[in-house]
Amino acid sequence: RLNIHKITTGSKSLDDLLGGGIETRDMTEFFGEYGTGKTQICHALAVNVQLPEDKGGLNAKAVYIDTEGTFRWERIEQIARGLNLDPDKVMENIYWIRAVNSHHQMAIVDQLYDMLSKDNVKLVIVDSLTSHFRAEFPGRENLAMRQQLLNKHLHQLIRLSEIYDIAVVVTNQVMARPDVFYGDPTSAVGGNIVAHAPGVRVQLKRSRGNKRIARIVDAPHLPEGETVFVITEYGIKD
Ligand code: ATP
Ligand code: MG
Repeated sequence: RLNIHKITTGSKSLDDLLGGGIETRDMTEFFGEYGTGKTQICHALAVNVQLPEDKGGLNAKAVYIDTEGTFRWERIEQIARGLNLDPDKVMENIYWIRAVNSHHQMAIVDQLYDMLSKDNVKLVIVDSLTSHFRAEFPGRENLAMRQQLLNKHLHQLIRLSEIYDIAVVVTNQVMARPDVFYGDPTSAVGGNIVAHAPGVRVQLKRSRGNKRIARIVDAPHLPEGETVFVITEYGIKD
């Protein structure tokens, strides 16, 4: 595919699994239980996109839409230091936006259409894609409305990635024991909240200590398989 650019995760093996890194003009979803590293990967990518191209970046800025209040500037500083980048400059190149509810989250993406036309942003992160929608539209009785809004949101994001040649990265927490949550079909592992959206889906699982396992789920253009990476003070590594 032509004109695709790639951003390194910081882990060679995770990059290899992804076919060279996170791709522009596409959406990549990281899903998994709590603590599997979704937010840590997002922090690392917000820094790595700023690297020069020969170091796996795109010499560009990031937008970080934070729905859960888990973004930490201290983590950005640490990851920047680990890469010998000036932490102040790195922080200036991340637009952190706290989304307070699902309506706000969608309004932010609408506004990005204007902003991205004037700025060198190559990565938009939504961490988490689903938390507000789940909280505001709980249970079966709200499922149809939740799906409708989420689909609209996903299409907003996908269109953005295609128009501006940017990478969109979203996270999605899924439950460990789907059987316990049978009343809510979208809480199942790999739950169909975003299962039919285009893009690359990466399942994360815990392993020993700081090790995590990543697996690509139904991506026709990528080989099946899984790999191990570690979460460190300096970001995501092999
Ligand atoms: P949730 O679904 O609850 O949002 P998550 O998948 O986003 O979870 P993260 O917050 O990305 O999970 O991962 C948390 C893990 O990251 C911690 O368990 C810890 O092991 C690791 N971690 C966080 N900060 C550091 C750090 N400074 N150095 C090393 N590891 C860290
Ligand atoms: Mg998180």
